[in-house]
Amino acid sequence: MQQQGMQRTLSIIKPDGVRKKVIGEVVRRFESAGIRIAAMKMLHLSKREAEGFYAVHRERPFFGSLTDFMSSGPIVVMVLEGENVIARNRELMGATDPKKADAGTIRASMADNIEHNIVHGSDAPETAATEIRYFFSELEIVS
Ligand code: GDP
Repeated sequence: MQQQGMQRTLSIIKPDGVRKKVIGEVVRRFESAGIRIAAMKMLHLSKREAEGFYAVHRERPFFGSLTDFMSSGPIVVMVLEGENVIARNRELMGATDPKKADAGTIRASMADNIEHNIVHGSDAPETAATEIRYFFSELEIVS
């Protein structure tokens, strides 16, 4: 990651995305956009692990429901790498609420509602670093 502007971000295909069998379609969108998959694995979070990941939202009214959902089935976690990839991934994802997401984005095309919205993507360099560390050791990330 020597090049200027190169970033890493954490992407998650949430349990609804895995259930809808859109893992391939989501990955295809990243790769077609020139984003490199630097790490990838499937896992099934416990309720406690989902609470740990979303700890910043613990005061929000939807925290219980969100963490039930995130621990309801397997997820796919990925490290994406590319120039300005944090913002570019957020553009590909679309707004949190699929009703407000731009046409053609992952959430507008595939998501059912504001909670079951197919993908997660880090929103800033600091959160990307923390979130990547939550799931991956440096040895699991391929340069
Ligand atoms: P994101 O960065 O676009 O994923 O959005 P946030 O960080 O604001 O929220 C984290 C996740 O919580 C979202 O992706 C949704 O799954 C869920 N979420 C956000 N807002 C709401 C809400 O108003 N109601 C419910 N039920 N879930 C929400």
